[in-house]
Amino acid sequence: MDVRNLVQKSVTKRGRMKLYDSSFSELRRILEWEFLKRGKQVLPVPAYNSSRECFLCGGINQNLTLEDRVFHCPYCGFTLDRDLNASLVFLRRAGWVPPFWCACL
Ligand SMILES: [Zn+2]
Repeated sequence: MDVRNLVQKSVTKRGRMKLYDSSFSELRRILEWEFLKRGKQVLPVPAYNSSRECFLCGGINQNLTLEDRVFHCPYCGFTLDRDLNASLVFLRRAGWVPPFWCACL
């Protein structure tokens, strides 16, 4: 979902500022409403350590910094783009099981 577009679609400046000033719970409620309106399922997942967790083995790379754009697992050697690894971690936390033919395995 294009959250930026959702914020910019607010007709008035007051409406846009209301979205910017919303608490996280209010923003989440708005996003859930927008997804459900489009017939999409919403599965909240915890974001804690998502960038540092290895998609393959679940190990935590404590030494990963914001400047590191490539994730490398010190336990199993799995290496992948940092954001792509975090995306896969989110998918797994939401219950996704990669198919056997997936190149990520
Ligand atoms: Zn690993």
